[in-house]
Amino acid sequence: MCGIYGVSLSPSSQKNATELVFQGIKRIEYRGYDSWGVAALKQKKTSSSEIKVYKKIGKISEVKSVAELKLPAARTALGHTRWATHGGVTEVNAHPHLASDGSFVLVQNGVVENYQALKNKLQQQGYTFKTQTDTEVIVRLLERSVQKAKGGKLTAKLVSQAVKQLDGRSTVLIMTVEGDMYAFRYGSPLVVGRGGAGSIYFSSDVLSMSQDAIEYIAIDHGQLVSYVDGQLHIHHLTRGTEITPV
Ligand code: GLU
Repeated sequence: MCGIYGVSLSPSSQKNATELVFQGIKRIEYRGYDSWGVAALKQKKTSSSEIKVYKKIGKISEVKSVAELKLPAARTALGHTRWATHGGVTEVNAHPHLASDGSFVLVQNGVVENYQALKNKLQQQGYTFKTQTDTEVIVRLLERSVQKAKGGKLTAKLVSQAVKQLDGRSTVLIMTVEGDMYAFRYGSPLVVGRGGAGSIYFSSDVLSMSQDAIEYIAIDHGQLVSYVDGQLHIHHLTRGTEITPV
């Protein structure tokens, strides 16, 4: 297991997504408690933004305040509580995992069963790995999709192309430097919540969103969610390997 929580606040919201994610992953700590992390999208004064990441080994319940993370206040953020399956419990292996060029960040709940074969192939193609996790394979697959497409940024189509190569249960939440969010559910649970004034929440557990969201959408096994330019879309995704959804 593990816990995923993500927030994209509407422009009119006075809240802080970094704080909401910090509180959100505290509520789902029961899903994974060896390490945790939060990524926040820092809005710069100029038009460009930057993704800032904080990761820590141990229990998030022992951390009293979001101020300890020294992350910026943000409109978009995501977080993770890990239960390690591949790679030791280290800060480097903790999620979120950032793309090499800082253009997106992701968290995963599950196992990429064919990660070694994918990793070997990617390494032969010149991609390098910084962690021992299966999750990093998803980061590199997405980077390769973006590079091949020469479009410069992730799209729902590119995410679905990358995801279709994964075997096993993998539910993933992605945040891009443009402030877009993508999530797909394959096996492990995923719920989307709508808050006041159009804010959007993502979580592994519907109960964890009750303080933030006012309505919920249960994402089906095999669905990909995109939240781009304030528009939520749910796409159906099919893949070769069939597994029993949770
Ligand atoms: N397989 C991933 C890892 O070991 C995710 C584990 C989880 O679901 O927490 O980092």
